[in-house]
Amino acid sequence: MGVVSLSGMPVALELALESTFVDDLEGLYEHWHPAPVPNSELLALNTDLAQSLGLDPQTLADPEWRAVFAGNAVPEHARPVAQAYAGHQFGGYSPRLGDGRALLLGEIVDPDGNRHDLHLKGSGRTPFARGGDGKASVGPMLREYVIGEAMHALGIPTTRMLAVVATGEPVARETMLPGAVLTREASSHLRVGTFQYAAANGGRELLQRLTDHAVARHHPDLAEIDDPAERALALFDRVVATKAELVARWMIVGFVHGVMNTDNTTISGQTIDYGPCAFMETYDPAAVFSSIDHGGRYASGNQPAIMAWNLARLAEAMLALFDDDADRAVERATKVLATFPERFQATWNELMRAKLGLDPHAESGDAVVADLLTLMTDQRVDYTSCLRSLSSAARGDATATRSLFADTDAFDAWSDRWLALLGDDRAAIADAMDRVNPV
Ligand code: AMP
Ligand code: MG
Repeated sequence: MGVVSLSGMPVALELALESTFVDDLEGLYEHWHPAPVPNSELLALNTDLAQSLGLDPQTLADPEWRAVFAGNAVPEHARPVAQAYAGHQFGGYSPRLGDGRALLLGEIVDPDGNRHDLHLKGSGRTPFARGGDGKASVGPMLREYVIGEAMHALGIPTTRMLAVVATGEPVARETMLPGAVLTREASSHLRVGTFQYAAANGGRELLQRLTDHAVARHHPDLAEIDDPAERALALFDRVVATKAELVARWMIVGFVHGVMNTDNTTISGQTIDYGPCAFMETYDPAAVFSSIDHGGRYASGNQPAIMAWNLARLAEAMLALFDDDADRAVERATKVLATFPERFQATWNELMRAKLGLDPHAESGDAVVADLLTLMTDQRVDYTSCLRSLSSAARGDATATRSLFADTDAFDAWSDRWLALLGDDRAAIADAMDRVNPV
């Protein structure tokens, strides 16, 4: 082990960080180092994630690693960068956002051969910081860690947090708060906003490089498509598919992202940037959790439409790649985009049917699913508790579910229709329901 040094100096670690993003995508980053912090205390360390990355969880608690997590040192041979991206924030376009308080340290290839970004958040001002202080505070970083793990446990594609350290530095928000740096793992940090930035600043050449990098990283099978336009369109099609599935998976657990700006929308299909997000309690398609979202743009029930809107922005950015003829390019992109509602609905239907113990592939239960959601909305019922309690009802005891409804007659009438659709092996069905309905 080498000596830990301040000021972002390198530290020897048994860690082979790679930098394909830096090698491939000149024009989409600024070389930058983290800002040293006065102190560092490890608040959270994700040993489960460390193991899956092929890192030794024991050594991650060592001072060398802690220095890296704090931004006081970078691994030897690392080439940290602040990534450039643009983005539509609440519908308004910002041509230059980028990592204002974050850095890509590099990439780790896990024992299964999968590539992961290691990224610091709260590591000081970068050339993209604009008016920001480059810092993060303990509360939101721990929250990001916890929600990432919850999402992962729920089987929802997500970025995950490897570590949170307290920096010993106060951070000025509405009040003074203790500072923190978060280390985030992601299959990549490519965003819709990355494509928007590339299209606006590097033209077709950079866009093509970005597309090929994204293909190599996320859909290597598409690299075999020789025609660049077909390859780009195939990538776009895959992104539409993964994002339709992602938002369906959010919706079935009542997750509301809160800030679905195009810079917070990955190409990988992972959830990223847990800010004012929440799991809804009372079922309400109008539920909003961001205090600045006055128009309800990112309300729970709006999420599929917003995801489709963000994908339309991705299509716009990639348009020059789809066809030399602008009209034909629009036509081709539109055809792919048009598949979004159907793809979203197919996944959502299948998952919701399973939550109610119904045959996931039979449409017969869809009216029963829809009517339950209407009942929940009208009677302001807790979404997660209601769905979880239904397994007991399937076993013959509806006490818990009935207690959630003010008008039990309406629930009983619904329940009769629902029970009539359930198969005979109620014990097995109820067990299966418990596996897909979190507590
Ligand atoms: P977010 O709302 O965290 O997704 O960030 C939106 C944009 O603001 C990104 O470009 C961030 O890098 C930037 N940003 C957010 N907070 C800060 C901060 N404290 N200092 C510098 N930039 C920030
Ligand atoms: Mg963001």
